Amino acid sequence: MKWEVVMGLEVHVELATKTKIFCSCTTEFGGEPNTHCCPVCTGMPGTLPVFNRQVLEYAVRAGLALNCDITRYNKFDRKNYFYPDLPKAYQISQLYLPFAQNGHVDLKLKSGKTSQIRIHEIHMEEDAGKLVHSAYDDSTYLDYNRCGIPLIEIVSEPDFREAEEVTAYLSKLKSVFEYLGISDCRMEEGSMRADVNLSVRPEGSTEFGTRTEMKNINSLRAIERAIAYESKRQIELIEDGGKVVQETRRWDDAKGESYAMRSKENAQDYRYFPEPDIPPLSISEEEIQHYIDITPEFADAKAERFMKDFGLSEEDADIIAASKNLAYIFEETVKLCDSPSEVRFWIMSQVLYYANEKNLDLEKLSISPEKFAEFVKFITGGKVTRQAGKQVFEQLMFGGTDFDVAAYIKENELEAVEDTGLIDSTVKAVIDANPKAVEQYKGGGTKIMGFFVGQVMKQLKGKADPAAVNKAVLDALEKL
Ligand code: ADP
Ligand code: MG
Ligand code: ZN
Repeated sequence: MKWEVVMGLEVHVELATKTKIFCSCTTEFGGEPNTHCCPVCTGMPGTLPVFNRQVLEYAVRAGLALNCDITRYNKFDRKNYFYPDLPKAYQISQLYLPFAQNGHVDLKLKSGKTSQIRIHEIHMEEDAGKLVHSAYDDSTYLDYNRCGIPLIEIVSEPDFREAEEVTAYLSKLKSVFEYLGISDCRMEEGSMRADVNLSVRPEGSTEFGTRTEMKNINSLRAIERAIAYESKRQIELIEDGGKVVQETRRWDDAKGESYAMRSKENAQDYRYFPEPDIPPLSISEEEIQHYIDITPEFADAKAERFMKDFGLSEEDADIIAASKNLAYIFEETVKLCDSPSEVRFWIMSQVLYYANEKNLDLEKLSISPEKFAEFVKFITGGKVTRQAGKQVFEQLMFGGTDFDVAAYIKENELEAVEDTGLIDSTVKAVIDANPKAVEQYKGGGTKIMGFFVGQVMKQLKGKADPAAVNKAVLDALEKL
């Protein structure tokens, strides 16, 4: 039988407000354990929460960007449960009136296919603390720094059918929230966390199967693996005559398998009731209009513009525009040097190479557009070859703010060899040293050209114009 996988996502995103949602403690990541806390966020009896209205601004802007209807009159609810990372023994969340509903996200997949994921709702809530399990013994430590960090939880409809849609969706949320400046969405640091609900059903069936939920998987790669594992597990279970149990499972990325954590609880288990300590919030039409007015240009529109104005291919435009920082570096540099294709070349080759190699966060990269443009002018002016330019570019990326492009090129003698005499004599030396290759060439082996050019380039440390070397080699060989 053919099976169809059905998934729905619950994504938690920490909002980058300066202070927590119900107190004035800092939201900064890390810090000595239990130093970003006060009586309110550690749930001391007798304290009262005060809502940080900036949370509502960030939340509403996220809701608008995901095409949701915004609830004008908002309330909070108490979700009661005990766990050591939650000192109040309840979480302030929204059940009855989430601030955003009925949205959607449009996705573009690699195959060129498009798909739309509907958003059921988005609500605001507070984050819990962290349990730190000792690596040395059985102890567990509590760090309450994260208690009270503002979160939005984005609940999708069960519209995902394949893993690529899931990763495209999460990448899109990250890009949109970065453009809005409301979250850094770092999965490894936990500022964006995805729970994947997954079920399978016979292809063509209109009813959903029983789902399991995999919590807090912390990278896109791990999510792809978890989806593959869980779909296979469910299909095999059913084909063997078994039944999927509705439960929460933990994905162990090191082992490459998931295991059952607990049976899934229902809303009733939490004894939700309206939060009595926080007055309802209302949002005015003017406020919403203001947020609409300040909406930035998102990746999709930016990519279209990069294709139209700068001649980028769709694939390159999508990659560059998806990152707010990369798009900024690209566009500012192009403004200063007017060579979009050369700027594109260095971003697509070197920047992405290093980002991948060193696992860098593109949003944190700092490359000065002024220096990048100065560098590009050396390349387009023929003063430095692309080959030699790689060494300069590495410094441009990692050499710090004092890096001086022109001085570095000079000090390291990276200027292109313009001396045709030097090129000719090097060509002659290479030809003299390789009589066998010359024979091959004369015998019609024109492919050997590449060998000669490569040898000459190597001797000139990549600093000669490859086209000039090519011509010099050809001329010399023809004269033999
Ligand atoms: P709960 O209230 O138990 O958390 P929800 O109805 O809020 O359940 O759904 C939670 C998430 O699970 C949503 O993202 C939803 O799309 C997804 N979901 C619901 N049913 C299924 C199913 N049968 N298969 C896959 N995902 C599902
Ligand atoms: Mg839910
Ligand atoms: Zn506090």
